[in-house]
Formats: sequence, C-alpha cells, structure tokens
Amino acid sequence: MALKVAIIGSGPAGFYAADALLRAEDPHVEVDLLDRLPTPWGLVRLGVAPDHENIKAVSRAFEKTAARPGFRFFGNVEVGSTVSHEELLRLYDAVLYTVGAQTDRRLGIPGEDLPGSWPATAFVAWYNGHPDFQELDFDLHTERAVVIGNGNVAIDCARMLALTADELAPTDTIDPAAEAIAASPVREIVMLGRRGPVQAAFTPPELKELGELAGAEPVVDPRDLELDPASERELEADRERARRNVDLLQEYARRASDGKPRRIVLRFLVSPVAILGEERVEGVEVARNELVEEGGRIVARPTGETEVIPCGLVLRSVGYKGVALPGVPFDERSGTIPNSGGRVEGAQRTYVAGWIKRGPSGVIGTNKKDAAETVEALLADARAGQLACVDSTQSLEGLLEEKGVRYVEYEGWRAIDAAERAAGEPRSRPRVKLTSWEELLATGCNPGELASRRD
Ligand code: NAP
Repeated sequence: MALKVAIIGSGPAGFYAADALLRAEDPHVEVDLLDRLPTPWGLVRLGVAPDHENIKAVSRAFEKTAARPGFRFFGNVEVGSTVSHEELLRLYDAVLYTVGAQTDRRLGIPGEDLPGSWPATAFVAWYNGHPDFQELDFDLHTERAVVIGNGNVAIDCARMLALTADELAPTDTIDPAAEAIAASPVREIVMLGRRGPVQAAFTPPELKELGELAGAEPVVDPRDLELDPASERELEADRERARRNVDLLQEYARRASDGKPRRIVLRFLVSPVAILGEERVEGVEVARNELVEEGGRIVARPTGETEVIPCGLVLRSVGYKGVALPGVPFDERSGTIPNSGGRVEGAQRTYVAGWIKRGPSGVIGTNKKDAAETVEALLADARAGQLACVDSTQSLEGLLEEKGVRYVEYEGWRAIDAAERAAGEPRSRPRVKLTSWEELLATGCNPGELASRRD
C-alpha cells in the first residue's frame, strides 16, 4: 500500500518535496498538497516580481509534478482553521509543512505603523494580486519613496516603483497597481542599507537591472564605496556576489545622468531610527553608521550623526518571518519550526522544508536541495516502520465535505489558470489575474462550468 503524505503549502518547497516523494519507489508515495489559497505556486505566483516572467517559468516544472500519478491538490484548505494538525495526522502517514514565511520582520522603531509606511511584503502581495491584499490603499502620490533594506525584495520594490507604463504593460501586474505606478509623481526612490556595499544582500543580476530601466537611473555616491579594511577582505573572499555588486556600484557612481525622469538612489551605512510624520509619513530619520568587526561578523555601529530624508512613502523590506501553526512546535525567535534535517522536534510523523525550516533565505532552487533532505528523512522513517497512520479509512475530501468546505482541486486551478491566460491574451500579457476570493472560488470550484461556457 502507498504511503500517504500531506504537504501543507504549495510554493516551491512544497512542489519540490512532492516531486521527490512521487519519484520514490520504496515506499511508493501518494501526495495531497494543501494550500490556504485557491491557487498553487506560493511566492512564484504572488512574490516574484511581475517583470521577472523568466523566474515565474519554474511553475512549468511544478505542472509536471502535478501531472504525476498519486498527486492531488486541495486549495482553500487552511491548516489551523479548516483542518487541524491532529486531523491531518489521523488521515495521513506523515505531514510535511512547507508554509514559507508569511509575515514581515519588524524594525521596532517609532512611527513604523504610520499611514504610508508599509511592509514590503504587503506591497509585493498587492501588485501581484494576492486576494488578501487588494483592499490596501497604496497611495503613491509622492515625489520621494524610501525602501528600507538591501535585499532582493528591496530591489524588486524599488524597481517596480520605477517602471514605466510600457515596461509594466507586458507583465501580469494587477491593473490598479500598474496604473498607480505609472501615474505616480515619484521622482526619487531611496534604498537604505544599514551596512556597506560589500555586505548588501542583493545579488548582481538584480542590481544590474537597475542600470537598464527605461525611465529610471541608479545613483550612487562614490564616497559610499570607499571601503574599510575588513570590507576589503570580505570583498576578496566573495568574488561571485560582493565583488560583482561593488563593480556595478562603481560603474553607477561614474555614470553621468542621462536625464531619465526617476532616480533610484542607493545609500549605504544608514539605519532608520524613526519614521516621522503627524497624520502620515513625512520622512525617515536615519543614523549614520560605521562598520566594526564583532564576533567574526561585520556589523553597523551608529556614529551619532543623523539626518532626515523627507518622503511620502516607506516600504520596510528587512526580511520575511514565519508564523506559528496551531498544534505544531515553533521557535518565535527564528520564526521557524524547530527540526533536525527536516524532522520536526517533539512532533510525531511531522516534517518541514523550505523557509519555515531554515528561515527566509536563498533563491527558489535552494528549496530543491532543502526539500530533498527532508524527503530522505521521511522515507527513511517510513522504511524503518515509524510512520503508522492511525485511521486511514477516512479521506480528506470526506472530512472537507462533512465540514462544508469549498475546496479547489487541481482541475479547478487549471480553470483559473485558463481564465486568466484567456483574459491576458488580447492584451499581450501572460495573464490577467483573478484577485478576489469570490472570483477565484467561483472559477476554481466549478471547473466544469467554465469548460461548458467555453464550448
Ligand atoms: P534578505 O536578503 O535577508 O535582506 C534583508 C535586508 O534587510 C538586508 O539587507 C538586511 O541587512 C536588512 N535589514 C535587516 N534588519 C534591518 C534593520 N533593522 N534595519 C535596516 N536594515 C535591516 O531578505 P529579502 O530581501 O526579504 O529576501 C528574502 C530572500 O528571497 C533572499 O534570499 C532573496 O535573495 C530572495 N529573493 C530573491 C529574488 C531574486 O532572485 N530575484 C527576489 C526576491 C527575493 P543586514 O545584512 O545588515 O542584516
């Protein structure tokens, strides 16, 4: 008999884990992949920037996984509210969490929650059409925006704010976001890095794109590129990322302005200490830093010098953070599920992969190796006879029907996908996303109806 595994979360880690499990021969595995949203792909659909269509193309590999025998998808099923961890343990031999990191890290500074100060995670979810973020009122009527953080999400936000209508047109950015960005009077987008250019977390291809935009140019102060000896040593040791980043930044610092209407100003060695404003954001107070070595790491230390950067919009992009699941162990400090090589500590037949296992780092492909490690542990436990399901007679669909839950199967997702692609076609866009729960469920729960309407 096949081993029955529930995977919770259908982003890259979930799909890579499903693929590895469905390829196993000893034991043979069947996978039910659950997601709280009606749609799969996680951050590939709702996090990757819309102008990065080539990165989103990884979903084609996930489609192949979904076509494997033994795979089923259940969208609109949330663990914690729709079904509990205990119920899943009764239905499955093993439960594998790949839920990612669903919220943002906080800065913990005054003014963080003023209107006009947003977590980057919310901005990203909004322009990507996440159904939980469509009511947010992003006011882009400002001449200067500040993006706090020096990672790839910060670069994505800065670049998205700088795109022209022509650059946005062929993407699947939702219409309200594309219209608001194109119509915004924003002239300057300032990115704030608390450490130096060598320590920036963004990667060279993303930094390079800032120099290739139609309506915006990168601006770097050459004084920010003067390196202390410790950074020089770090630069020599990291030729792939830091060296290439610094080369690009030097090139930007040398570039003469070509008069493009928007500027992306990359600042270093500045930490936000307060977000200022009466009713809404009016500026960011920053403290100037110097770099010091502490415990083998280069950290920022305030020099005592401060400055105010006036702005009307702040996007806080200082990393994602995992959220606890009811009935599953959780480490608040790291925002992850405590585990040993993917086996959840202190929980029977429970596994974890992806960002909720190791924290929010790495690119999409990093999750493949991560999921493979977990799947290996799970299969080893199965072969050792440690995964005995308590009650295999009930099915998930039986339980969901008993509870009156409208779930979306893979066919339902295919109907959503087809409807979105069809809406995109006349506008030469990859898709026009359905962005409300009502539309998604109406299409996803009745895929047959859509097919008959098309006939
Ligand atoms: P990240 O790479 O961890 O970057 C977080 C940034 O926030 C760092 O520069 C960090 O600086 C800064 N930061 C943290 N706390 C801060 C504070 N209190 N004040 C000021 N700055 C602070 O996170 P991310 O940008 O959210 O990206 C998450 C992962 O997704 C990364 O692995 C990223 O590469 C990946 N991603 C990839 C792509 C792509 O491939 N195109 C796109 C988006 C995301 P310190 O270094 O000083 O801590």
